[in-house]
Amino acid sequence: MDCLFCKIAAGQIPARPVYEDEDLFAFADINPQAPVHILIIPRRHIASLDHSAAGDAALLGALLETAAKIARDKGLARGYRVVINTGADGGQTVDHLHVHLLGGRSMAWPPG
Ligand code: 5GP
Ligand code: ZN
Repeated sequence: MDCLFCKIAAGQIPARPVYEDEDLFAFADINPQAPVHILIIPRRHIASLDHSAAGDAALLGALLETAAKIARDKGLARGYRVVINTGADGGQTVDHLHVHLLGGRSMAWPPG
């Protein structure tokens, strides 16, 4: 499949890995928007959150649990933000489900 994040998860395109297991892969964002900016993805191709199904509940839970674990490992005790951009209006630019973990600075609300 011609998918950038599938290729990153498969090691065909280099990335800075942060965490990996059988189901998930996490790596540094190439264009960081905060001192810590990590992407967490399922190894299996799911185009977006809108393409997930009832059977993906455990996988979705694991994505969030892993975001929290990485945040603790990175020392983000002051807080952090977890974002899943979905679809065109959501600002999604890579069509493989990914969780952004952002931290190391204070975040504004609402987002742009
Ligand atoms: P989206 O806008 O779809 O929510 O986020 C896509 C993210 O992927 C962006 O933050 C962008 O910087 C990141 N990204 C795009 N291409 C690459 C790449 O080749 N390597 C890495 N590590 N990140 C990428
Ligand atoms: Zn993919």
